[in-house]
Amino acid sequence: MLISVVVPCMNEEASIPVLVERLSKVVAPYGDRAEVLLVDDGSTDATWSAIERARATFPCLRGIRLSANRGHQIALTAGLEAAQGERIFMLDADLQDPPELLGDMMGMMDRGYDVVYGRRNERQGETLFKRATAWVFYRVLNAMSDIEIPRDTGDFRLVSRKALDAILSMPERARFVRGMFAWAGFSQIGIEYARAPRELGDTKYPLRKMIRFAVDAMTAFSTKPLKFATRMSFASLGFSALMMIYVAHSLIVYQTAPGWASVVLVISLFSGVQLLTLGILGEYIGRLYVEAKNRPLYFVSEDTRSADLLPLRKVV
Ligand code: UDP
Ligand code: MG
Repeated sequence: MLISVVVPCMNEEASIPVLVERLSKVVAPYGDRAEVLLVDDGSTDATWSAIERARATFPCLRGIRLSANRGHQIALTAGLEAAQGERIFMLDADLQDPPELLGDMMGMMDRGYDVVYGRRNERQGETLFKRATAWVFYRVLNAMSDIEIPRDTGDFRLVSRKALDAILSMPERARFVRGMFAWAGFSQIGIEYARAPRELGDTKYPLRKMIRFAVDAMTAFSTKPLKFATRMSFASLGFSALMMIYVAHSLIVYQTAPGWASVVLVISLFSGVQLLTLGILGEYIGRLYVEAKNRPLYFVSEDTRSADLLPLRKVV
């Protein structure tokens, strides 16, 4: 198998037919040396039946259905684990990233690169809010993590088997795929493209999920937030030392304790710092807990490929 295309899909019934049509054109040059894996991430609409239907016209399509919604990064991981190709191409189901770029990416990989990632040079039709949050996200992420994650890249990329095996050998439960690739190293190169607006269906990343994703990304790759908490405690210690001098001074000079305003101010400042520090600690402890449980990341409830293999197994 030369190439595997991996696409996580959650409630993408509207996109599947177009997606499959465009992908079938893109992988046509590779004939039966290509496979397309659509991972249904616990959709509540007709995504799975759309995948099954598309298989009739597109034999190299394989559908994998997860037992429940596990989130974009885990669905992607499920597809990556199932992929058998020498090169693995990942993209979103909504066609915001043009699959037609595969040819160019293959060309760059022929020149010896292990990871060719897409870099968005413009984001057409995305709301100002989404663009602004994405901008802040990539900058804060790089400030807060120990590795350099290329700016404005998503999971849209072509990777070699070597790079993928490295990622799959990483045991963590927190799968921030693009960060893991950045951390793994190998020779990487970006390719610029314009990110199209989502045409069918709507975004599966509401603000709540985006914040979760950002916190995951930061805590998965560094302990800088913990150091930030320590620094903040030092700063507040320094501040309280100054406050003590001020209080002592007013006690001696004015013979009176200062009013309640400064007390309230100091109490709220320090309880804020303490709660934030606790919160940062909590994020890491929660993650330790999840890692320690060591549960499987996902369960596959249906796999069209094992359905194909079933009769074969019976013969043996
Ligand atoms: N997705 C998924 N599980 C989820 C959320 C999203 O598999 O819980 C998939 C979704 O179907 C799409 C990709 O992840 O293929 C990216 O989602 P989306 O396009 O909604 O994100 P956006 O482009 O708005 O950031
Ligand atoms: Mg999208």
